[in-house]
Amino acid sequence: MSGGHYDLGQKPGGGSGLSGKCPRCGRGKLFSGYLNLRENCDVCGLDYSFADSGDGPAVFVILIIGFIIVGLALWVEIAYQPPYWVHAVLWLPLLLIMSLGLLRILKGWMIAQQYRHKAAEGRLDQGGDGA
Ligand SMILES: [Zn+2]
Repeated sequence: MSGGHYDLGQKPGGGSGLSGKCPRCGRGKLFSGYLNLRENCDVCGLDYSFADSGDGPAVFVILIIGFIIVGLALWVEIAYQPPYWVHAVLWLPLLLIMSLGLLRILKGWMIAQQYRHKAAEGRLDQGGDGA
């Protein structure tokens, strides 16, 4: 196998992205830092240059964590009416911890989905074959 982008000879692991593993072999590391991608897989050699999750993970984090935190804050406010500093002490650290934890997981998942579904940047058809 070469290091081509979308070799379909091996089963892509959809769940491997959640654990930060290579979407093709499921064993190699996907990240070199917290959110930085490696150049390629250290096990199967898959070139990660196709991977660009853009703002996708951040959007999901905002929507998911925002829903949870706002719901909890409203519940605590209605049930206990604490002073505002209690809200700040409760929700700011929880917001930070949950966001940072979920961001890497969702980035790995989105890159795995990108690999699995062969998602790429849109291109204009220049005519030719089909015309
Ligand atoms: Zn791999």
